[in-house]
Amino acid sequence: MKTKASKLLARKNIALVAHDNMKESLSAWAIKHRAELENHELYATGTTGYKLEDATGLKINKCISGPMGGDQQIGAKISEGNVDTLIFFWDPFEQLPHDPDVKALLRIAAVWNIPVACNPASADFILSSQLISKEYERQVPDYDSYIAERLAN
Ligand code: PGA
Repeated sequence: MKTKASKLLARKNIALVAHDNMKESLSAWAIKHRAELENHELYATGTTGYKLEDATGLKINKCISGPMGGDQQIGAKISEGNVDTLIFFWDPFEQLPHDPDVKALLRIAAVWNIPVACNPASADFILSSQLISKEYERQVPDYDSYIAERLAN
């Protein structure tokens, strides 16, 4: 697939999602990184968002709850270029009714080449990177040429 450059701004749009058994861990992580997170626009699935706001006092744009479609809302924002970093503490020990949505969210994050962290260590690395507070040019699928090719066939 053809790709093109797309610029991430210094102020990132960061989505935060945690499954129930991981919510405490995400809250502890967010408290640790509160000062840096404050510099960015934050999104979350419903329950995660309320719990994070409560734990940190940060303002969070809340989608609806994950099992009700929130994961898909975050995925849509990634496709539209409105979420550019995903911190997603998914539960490696439990099957969930919305496992297909979880897989879809991780897939769409891979398609659009955004940084993804699935546990506190990887999330530490992302937040500690100098790129988190700088402009960064990433390659994304070139949708115009993708659709033109499909229409030509
Ligand atoms: P929640 O959704 O923040 O509403 O719990 C997260 C998820 O399970 O995907």
